[in-house]
Amino acid sequence: MTSNDLTGRFTDARKRIASAASQWGRSPESVQLVAISKGHPADAIRTVATAGQRDFGENYLQEVLPKFEALRDLPLVWHFTGQIQSNKTRPIAEHFAWVHTVDREKIAARLSEQRPADAAPINVCIQVSLEDEPGKGGVPVAEVAALAAKIAVMPRLRLRGLMAIPPPRDTFGEQKALFDRMSALLRDLNDKGLQLDTLSMGMSDDLEAAVAAGSTLVRIGTAIFGERNRG
Ligand SMILES: *Cc1c(COP(=O)(O)O)cnc(C)c1O
Repeated sequence: MTSNDLTGRFTDARKRIASAASQWGRSPESVQLVAISKGHPADAIRTVATAGQRDFGENYLQEVLPKFEALRDLPLVWHFTGQIQSNKTRPIAEHFAWVHTVDREKIAARLSEQRPADAAPINVCIQVSLEDEPGKGGVPVAEVAALAAKIAVMPRLRLRGLMAIPPPRDTFGEQKALFDRMSALLRDLNDKGLQLDTLSMGMSDDLEAAVAAGSTLVRIGTAIFGERNRG
């Protein structure tokens, strides 16, 4: 893809977010865009960064570490959005400002321990499994509050909210209903005394439904960068 194409797609994605927001009476600034660049080269990230994007998300450590090197001159904010193996937490704790996929106390504890002392606390979202989907990660809804209470007191983490990757639904209404459950869950946690401000939900195919349900952060890959090679 040429850099003009890429810049055009990036602009279109931002327009989609802005128009969904205004349709639901929200300001465009209330929905943060994280560009998910897994499967795409550092050059593509540089092009999108030049067009004004600052937040990027990646899923695979072995893929992202060389990109960090190539992009060191840019003031980017990195989000980890992949599944986390407990023996691979250290590079995540060292390099990422955000981790969206925390679903176990043990992982959270390791990230907190391993966060370098001179870095700000890691912004963390708990990944919620709305349906029982083996292999996709996420904590069941019934266990979210207990996990949130534990993470909220970890010194080097800042619990920001919840994240989900809901399964696709046939209609907008059904898709929105799944995202609405996430909004309700966040409200419950805040009613219990937490102060969470982030709903990380919405991808290329369902961002409108997510914004309708109150998403504050959408994670967009394909709509910006195009199809990717797996893994
Ligand atoms: C890959 C990925 C995305 C981006 O998905 P698209 O459908 O390409 O927009 C968002 N969130 C997570 C957690 C992902 O793994």
